[in-house]
Amino acid sequence: MKDLIITNKILNWYDINKRSLPWRKKVSQKKREYYTLISEFMLQQTQVATVIPYFNRFIKNIPNIEKLSKFDNRKLIKLWEGLGYYSRVRNLKKTAKIVVKDFNKRLPQNFSDLKSLPGIGDYTASAILAIAFNEPIIPLDGNIERVLKRYLYLKKQTQIKKENLQEQKKIFGTSTKRSSDYAQALMELGALICKPINPNCKKCPLSKKCKSFKNNDFDLVKSIKKDKETFYKLNVYKKNNQYLLIKNNKFNFLKNFNIFPMEKLNDPKNFDKDLNLKMSNMIMNIKIEYKNKYNLKKKSYWIDPSKLQNYTLPTFTKKIVKFLESHK
Ligand code: SF4
Repeated sequence: MKDLIITNKILNWYDINKRSLPWRKKVSQKKREYYTLISEFMLQQTQVATVIPYFNRFIKNIPNIEKLSKFDNRKLIKLWEGLGYYSRVRNLKKTAKIVVKDFNKRLPQNFSDLKSLPGIGDYTASAILAIAFNEPIIPLDGNIERVLKRYLYLKKQTQIKKENLQEQKKIFGTSTKRSSDYAQALMELGALICKPINPNCKKCPLSKKCKSFKNNDFDLVKSIKKDKETFYKLNVYKKNNQYLLIKNNKFNFLKNFNIFPMEKLNDPKNFDKDLNLKMSNMIMNIKIEYKNKYNLKKKSYWIDPSKLQNYTLPTFTKKIVKFLESHK
């Protein structure tokens, strides 16, 4: 009963206050899936107001997934120009191709198949299931997280951990008939009312039971991310005093940059590192192995360490070159 009350309050608020957004238009189920896919890709790292004109232009030029799967790459990038994070649009086309080829031109309606598609992670898969397929799921985006943290007054590190938030979000219950609206209603509540600064509690349907409102404290605690230990074997090929680099299309970091050929090792035993480097919240323990033969099929580049300043290389690669040169 409690669930029902909170769900109804939020849905009632949404029915009156929701923004009219182009991807919320009443359309066929097939279009709804396509609109959700495009809007969710665009909304990753971009504000709603910025996305609207891009979405409209995109749909006008590429009205369905089949057309997207064959759309000219150059024109596609042009349509995305200004939105940034171009890997999103490249993944979007890859996803469209797979959906057309392997899923009969329709987005799969299950979490694991959705997650297997390029550019779709846990959050986007949940959002597509909730919004496009009306599945009773609450996708935990930044807006919903904020409402949840404030509503329950979650301040401790253990409380704001993702796993705990996933558990705590059950407080919002589900709406079996209007799951799609309910997911969007919670997002909308965060975006319009429970804003990062100056939440408009007077207009909030949750204010009666909201603990932050009761405590008159709306500060949000940031989660402290622990550094993650990772292990890599780095292969050094040297010829005529030059080192071999390859273009990275294997690891998520430094994508498309030139790096040494590397392999990631999972929980290696007796790992004897030669150096460690930090990259964002990752501590990379690196073991160096010199190789004589080079038989990689990938495109490769030879660099002269004495001319390091002439190359456009990531700091990570430069640091390794310097390390190798100082340990000859
Ligand atoms: S009452 Fe205020 S703080 Fe609480 S959920 Fe609503 S807007 Fe956020």
